[in-house]
Amino acid sequence: MLPVFALVGRPNVGKSTLFNRLTRTRDALVADVPGLTRDRQYGIGRVGPGPYVVVDTGGISGGEGIEALSEQQVRIAITEADHLLFLVDTRDGTTPADLEIAAQLRRTGKPVTLVANKVDHLDWTLAAGELHQLGLGDPQPIAALQGRGVSALISGIFATLPAGEEAACAETEEATTEAVRVAVVGRPNAGKSTLINRLLGEERVVVYDSPGTTRDSIEIPFAVGERQYRLIDTAGMRRRARISEAIEHFSVIKTLQAIEACHVAILVLDAHAGIGEQDATLAAHLIDSGRALVMAVNKWDGLTPDARSALKIAIERRLPFLDFAEQHRISALHGSGVGLLLEAADRAYASAMRTLPTPLLTRLLEDAVGEHAPPLVRGRRIKLRYAHQGGRNPPIIVIHGNQTEALPDSYQRYLIKRLREALRLQGTPLRLELKSGT
Ligand code: GDP
Ligand code: GDP
Repeated sequence: MLPVFALVGRPNVGKSTLFNRLTRTRDALVADVPGLTRDRQYGIGRVGPGPYVVVDTGGISGGEGIEALSEQQVRIAITEADHLLFLVDTRDGTTPADLEIAAQLRRTGKPVTLVANKVDHLDWTLAAGELHQLGLGDPQPIAALQGRGVSALISGIFATLPAGEEAACAETEEATTEAVRVAVVGRPNAGKSTLINRLLGEERVVVYDSPGTTRDSIEIPFAVGERQYRLIDTAGMRRRARISEAIEHFSVIKTLQAIEACHVAILVLDAHAGIGEQDATLAAHLIDSGRALVMAVNKWDGLTPDARSALKIAIERRLPFLDFAEQHRISALHGSGVGLLLEAADRAYASAMRTLPTPLLTRLLEDAVGEHAPPLVRGRRIKLRYAHQGGRNPPIIVIHGNQTEALPDSYQRYLIKRLREALRLQGTPLRLELKSGT
């Protein structure tokens, strides 16, 4: 499971600026998806040795210092974090609120890195001396706005993580061929536990039920005939045994870790409750992750025809960017439709892992360009010359040409749609990487 870094500190010290720095690195790779609202609080960081989960605790609180810390959400984030990044505004020196926050953070017993932000335009040696008063050791200077020192900061933290963390990360990058790792995600009450119990029902063979290897995440290996799977369970989910009455808080962090660790995600939607903000946010995380995806529209039982059509419209309207995923209407409670989910997950994974030959991709690119040419930029037409595969899960298609940096998002979406259809990719996002040269 990915390590979790929480950003804490007074309002205005630069937490969200740093959060954006750490989480937005892949924008160049992903064409802007219209209608997608990104989570401003949780993200996957990829600057530095990454990946890791970043939590901006500042988004939650309007309060100052101690008030902010006492808020439940902040406390949960701190509890779930492996490492705390305490940001201060170096231009302000050490304020009483900073001293209070520092005292509270020391009490958590978690490793804390003191991050001295906004070191642009000031005398660092003078400022650093004062920050030692916080009793958190040497401050790490950064300028989040300019990105200075940010990568070094993260590398330094990775160096302090217990052994195994980086290995665990490396492992998730490497697709193992023998078992498909499936994560079941969805908002609270959508029916995840019920679905997991169904998936692991009697007709399946649960190979063994191992306790969590890394922290509190659990992978449950099971098999359907010859096919091997690993179900990524998070501690918040109840398995096999009866669903606990205990109400688990919805952990975005655990969900993000599960998404990163899986090959294919099954997004469970609650047909009775409709499509809400949490579903849209989760969907945005899924898009950012690039994972193969199956949508399970759960609780399809007992829906009136009107409710069914309203739901279809709501999914199209609120989650249009997930239209690459197969949609299955299921009842986890009664079992209808559940049997088809794993087959859909297999198809999605197979699509995500396909090898796409260069001649085929280049021919498809030529066809697409022939049918609908890219626009002119400063009087010259953007040229797209050839394409090859740059990665799998998700498939990345690298396109070489001239002035490709000016290729509009709408044209990129057109190419993605054309390529997806022609390649019959199902259940996986497709990414373009544009290269310009001569
Ligand atoms: P938050 O409330 O802690 O999330 O703080 P923000 O990220 O919203 O930043 C508060 C202000 O500080 C914004 O105007 C930022 O542009 C500015 N800021 C953030 N980082 C830096 C930096 O490294 N240098 C300078 N000069 N300003 C910064
Ligand atoms: P989780 O929080 O996502 O793990 O959701 P649970 O699996 O605990 O389910 C929440 C509630 O929805 C429980 O009362 C389930 O019995 C109910 N539920 C789950 N699946 C279905 C379904 O397919 N149909 C109906 N009618 N109820 C369901």
